Amino acid sequence: MPSESVSDHAQALCADAMVWDAHAGVFPDPSVDLGLLNDWREKGVDYLSINVGFDVMDWQQTLATLAAYRRWVLLHDDRFVLAGNVSDICRARREGKFALSFDIEGMNALNGNLDMVGVYHGLGVRQMLFAYNLNNQAAGGCHDEDIGLSDFGKAIVREMNRVGMIVDCSHAAYRTTMDIMAASAEPVVFSHSNPTAVWDHQRNIRDEQIKACAETGGVVGINGMGIFLGQNDIGDETILKHIFHLADLVGPAHIGFGFDYSPPLDIDVGDILRSRPDYWPAGNLYDTPHIEHAGPAQLPALVEGLIDRGFSDDEIRGMLGGNFRRVAAQVWPGKPS
Ligand SMILES: [Zn+2]
Repeated sequence: MPSESVSDHAQALCADAMVWDAHAGVFPDPSVDLGLLNDWREKGVDYLSINVGFDVMDWQQTLATLAAYRRWVLLHDDRFVLAGNVSDICRARREGKFALSFDIEGMNALNGNLDMVGVYHGLGVRQMLFAYNLNNQAAGGCHDEDIGLSDFGKAIVREMNRVGMIVDCSHAAYRTTMDIMAASAEPVVFSHSNPTAVWDHQRNIRDEQIKACAETGGVVGINGMGIFLGQNDIGDETILKHIFHLADLVGPAHIGFGFDYSPPLDIDVGDILRSRPDYWPAGNLYDTPHIEHAGPAQLPALVEGLIDRGFSDDEIRGMLGGNFRRVAAQVWPGKPS
């Protein structure tokens, strides 16, 4: 709930805007009780892209998770909408329902088969990342040698453009992301990545990447993980520093939120990160005890900071969701071929 220190103006903007969270950080598994999605609803989020797999898992486990989540959402259609396009999200909002679609972090999920892009799209995946920290057949990861985008990766970009899936550069290496953005005919996003200029971490992105993303018409989503924002720091002022840097560099039309957030579960994120030092290598604060995580509960306070900084209501609505919505409206219809 909004705190008492937040103005009526900020609260009204949060209530009025379409609020878009471009990436959840729930550990993907078929056994997850998706009742946890109510956490986002209660905090005023209208649309969430929830992760169903990442390169750490084998592709069969990703498909099993996607199948389980998809069935759960369809069985709970009194409260949830599996959104295939922006109209579905608008309809969900009018009906007081929560809209979601799925994303996958890394192309291991294709098992080397380009045809799987369309299969995932048909099952509700609307956003895919190319690599998850380490290299794969398609692309270079941010914690690995930067091998760029492979020919297979280029074919995937074309196929994603064709079927109508958002191309997402988070977790990929610098040169790889520049290759991806050059290859895509549609806007490209970093769904959950913060600027290196504010906090130097291998998972964060350079100004050149942010500018290239904006040139595609894309959006950078602010990540709420404390070790990507600062020294395990999720303060409003710290998050605002990241937003202000993006705004100074490319303007407010290319900023959104992808909090990478999970409601509190009986899982210690640190245990997961420590279990696979290949994907989460030492020296990147992954061994920080009790990693903090900002989520949508902080949006009213962040909006207050944006108002104080002089952003217009329209610019703030854009950052809350309008900018990602613009990308989805352009990309998701796909292209005839
Ligand atoms: Zn991620």
